[in-house]
Amino acid sequence: MSGHSDEHERTMAFCEIALSQIKALRQPATPRNYEIWYSYATGYQPSLNQKINETLSQNGSLSDADLDSVYETYLAPSRLTDRIDSVGSKVMGEIEQVMAMIDAAAGSASTYTESLAGMSEAIGASSDREGLRAIVEGLVATAKEMEESNQKLEERLNASKAEINELQVNLEAVRTESLTDPLTQLANRKFFDTTLQDAINFARENDEPLSLMLTDIDHFKKFNDTFGHLTGDQVLRLVAMSVKQNVKGQDTAARYGGEEFAVILPNTVLRSALTVADHIRRAVMTKELMKRSTGEHLGRVTISIGVASLQADDTAATLIERADACLYAAKRNGRNCVLCEADPEVSADQAMQVA
Ligand code: GH3
Ligand code: MG
Ligand code: MG
Repeated sequence: MSGHSDEHERTMAFCEIALSQIKALRQPATPRNYEIWYSYATGYQPSLNQKINETLSQNGSLSDADLDSVYETYLAPSRLTDRIDSVGSKVMGEIEQVMAMIDAAAGSASTYTESLAGMSEAIGASSDREGLRAIVEGLVATAKEMEESNQKLEERLNASKAEINELQVNLEAVRTESLTDPLTQLANRKFFDTTLQDAINFARENDEPLSLMLTDIDHFKKFNDTFGHLTGDQVLRLVAMSVKQNVKGQDTAARYGGEEFAVILPNTVLRSALTVADHIRRAVMTKELMKRSTGEHLGRVTISIGVASLQADDTAATLIERADACLYAAKRNGRNCVLCEADPEVSADQAMQVA
């Protein structure tokens, strides 16, 4: 699994790019500017990079107003917590308005009832035609008022309904984003953890098989050192795509760690999971990598895969551990291969670990 120091090295590379841009353009080294250039260095938001590159090529520099606009357009709206807060406060606002409307409607209904009661009393007491006519006119006027107030209420409720529907869609988008890895668009670790637990529970309840696959790119550190982290990130996207393209609808492909991917395969026996794993391994190794910007050939990358199937006494942690042990046996077995516990290489590898 990728260690703390790998993450340090990788993020330091982004940090250095960000600082060198701030220095070169002699901009204030504020947290906002650092965030803009750090995002630029990661390349996670191609539209942010494109906007900056265009402005730089037109003006040769970025003014404070340009930086404000880049921040407002590409970074501020993407802050999940801010968006959740804003959706949350809009929902509260809508609820308050609907409550106020219900109060007002209840108020006018009871006034209506009171005035009806008053009028029925007056009808009882009245003996002449004129008096009766005045009472009936009064009744018609109050009924009209009530009708108008009901109509307003209905219009407002319809508007609220539309607003709440839209908020629901926004909330769903925020939720999906909070469970998606921004670089690869696969499920993130958080989504993986909950999905694996749910899949284990489901498999137990329905007496179905469940398999788990863990993959790790071979010698990826060397690839990054040779071609740079940005190119490394492009390769991560490509591997993620190969994983995704080779799994079915009910499977969950996730970015498990830096350059590690996991696939949860519900209702899948070990043998079938091994077949899927081998498809993914082949799909990755047959891709000839090329740097898009320069056309430079980067060779190929390979991946190693460990596969394990759920056993009676497994927890999520022990299932992951067993798949991980197979993955590392695959590494020590020469890489670019798929191994599971039934393979003699895994038991030989484990015996070697103990010895
Ligand atoms: P092995 O074959 O044993 O897996 O060798 P390895 O070099 O791939 O070793 P390891 O799996 O420990 O790889 C970790 C490296 O992956 C470190 C870092 O350079 C790279 N890496 C991790 N996360 C990212 C990422 O998000 N982007 C890029 N570009 N590289 C990453
Ligand atoms: Mg790794
Ligand atoms: Mg690796």
